[in-house]
Amino acid sequence: MLLRPTLLHSLLLPIVQALSSANANTNGSSSNNIMTTSSASVALRSVKQILPAAPMYWVGDGFHVQQVFSNKACTEELSPFLMLDYAVPKYFKPNENGSPLGIGQHPHRGVDTVMMAFKGEVEHADSIGNQDVIKPGDVQWMTSGRGIIHQEFHSNEFSKKGGELEICQLWVNLPKKDKMTKPHYQPIVNKNIPVVDLKEASVDKECSEETVGSVRVIAGSFLGTKGPASTFSPVELWDTTIQKKGAVVDLPLPDDYNCIVFVRQGEIDIIGEGGDPKRVGAQGVALLKREGGIIRIQSAQQNASLLVMGGLPLNEPIAHRGPFVMNTLDEIDQANRDYKMGKFGK
Ligand code: MN
Repeated sequence: MLLRPTLLHSLLLPIVQALSSANANTNGSSSNNIMTTSSASVALRSVKQILPAAPMYWVGDGFHVQQVFSNKACTEELSPFLMLDYAVPKYFKPNENGSPLGIGQHPHRGVDTVMMAFKGEVEHADSIGNQDVIKPGDVQWMTSGRGIIHQEFHSNEFSKKGGELEICQLWVNLPKKDKMTKPHYQPIVNKNIPVVDLKEASVDKECSEETVGSVRVIAGSFLGTKGPASTFSPVELWDTTIQKKGAVVDLPLPDDYNCIVFVRQGEIDIIGEGGDPKRVGAQGVALLKREGGIIRIQSAQQNASLLVMGGLPLNEPIAHRGPFVMNTLDEIDQANRDYKMGKFGK
């Protein structure tokens, strides 16, 4: 699977359409009906910053996404997470005769790319021989390591039938010592992702034990249940739903981890130390302070869907250009040279 180097630029530079988002998003306002006292024995993680819904752009011609982390993407502040592209549910017409939409062959080095499908289907093919359809609930965890070439398109079936597509792609950095590891692919299907009941937290009263939502544990572990993804540094990735409006849930995370909460749907309040709630609207993202304590969330609507990301910071410099994420610019130049010389994807 060889590529003409001249193709690289047209594939990697997405068509940027700086559309302002139509999604309402409030920034840090307080809700009225929230419990304002937290039990004294529990330390709560507070919000450091809320980023509103980001503008949209196109990846290839098949994925209309928001770059959720905005100008924080690929900064050490979010380590080990680099960027999150989220394709808001969007209807695609049946495409009977044309070839499926998406993004053609392009390389990666030094980074794990994690594709999650919520609606619709994406077909992946790569230079180490994997070809796979990612269906709703499935996750594809790809380690590019020293170099892989892949493509991502709407699946043939989805393309012909048309329908709603909702996906996201998260980039997780590789530690310096693992950047040149052999490329690797983990297809994680929905039925292999454990689902843990989420109980209502005890706030100033006896624990209700009522199930108010669920956590799909993709990576890391939640209340002792381990997720299937294997990672190069400690990473938690929880696809979380709170069904009941007004329910309060507690999510425990190790103290020294960075933590990011992305609201895919709905609206939530994150209740920090002192009971101070911070509102995060649909497609908004909350960066939490890196300090001890559990994450306490109250759903402000029914069926809030969140992506909770936690990880131990790598504390290593980040050099990022296009599809390559290394530690120095020299290593980025080397990646470009190696790619042009056909050293990728083996
Ligand atoms: Mn890619």
